[in-house]
Amino acid sequence: MTRKTAAPRLPTGAKARAPQVLGALETLYPDARTELDYRSPFELLVATVLSAQATDVSVNAATPALFARYPDAHALSTASPEDIEPYIRRIGLYRGKARNLAALARLLVERHGGEVPDDFAAVVALPGAGRKTANVVLSNAYGYPAIAVDTHVGRLARRLGLSTQTHPDKVEADLERLFPRGRWVFLHHALILHGRRVCAARRPLCGECVMRPFCPQVGVDLPAPGRPA
Ligand code: SF4
Repeated sequence: MTRKTAAPRLPTGAKARAPQVLGALETLYPDARTELDYRSPFELLVATVLSAQATDVSVNAATPALFARYPDAHALSTASPEDIEPYIRRIGLYRGKARNLAALARLLVERHGGEVPDDFAAVVALPGAGRKTANVVLSNAYGYPAIAVDTHVGRLARRLGLSTQTHPDKVEADLERLFPRGRWVFLHHALILHGRRVCAARRPLCGECVMRPFCPQVGVDLPAPGRPA
């Protein structure tokens, strides 16, 4: 007889807190969307691969020239990593990303006719892509409900007492249990914006944060009594 594994426990109060978090994010960032510039699923896929451990600003600065030279997977599949490197040199980890993009474009052509597949497993299997990239691409390009957990989403989920997990896949599972499916894509973008603008990794602006009344501030290095948060 097979026994079902119970889902990990959510943090105390997470179910009550989730609607408060969502309401605050909807007020703060009603139009939250990706800050990566793209005009097609191919461009979004490439930009998302480039954005790993890099800022969206640095990616947006590089992609216009890259896409002018290599506008689709067929064009990029003819490029070597050395051809791609000059276009992305200002983005972190550019050598590895150039290798991945060259291989990714060839696989898109060989397996998918040059199109980005609207299939989670197929995107995850592409070089340089992972679960987060697949979620970003499928949700933004094809409207799939998905929560892509990057460093901001993971950090805020823990600070806000929505998850105790550190692995992105497990944070994703906790958030999926807490929020309505129709708001998953919004939640992902809004948490990223809040992480960039207010709840930064090093110095979260708790004193200015509208979520402070209900945020347990898990793991935040709170100031000594008498000093403002
Ligand atoms: S109160 Fe502080 S820890 Fe909580 S979400 Fe706001 S900035 Fe982040």
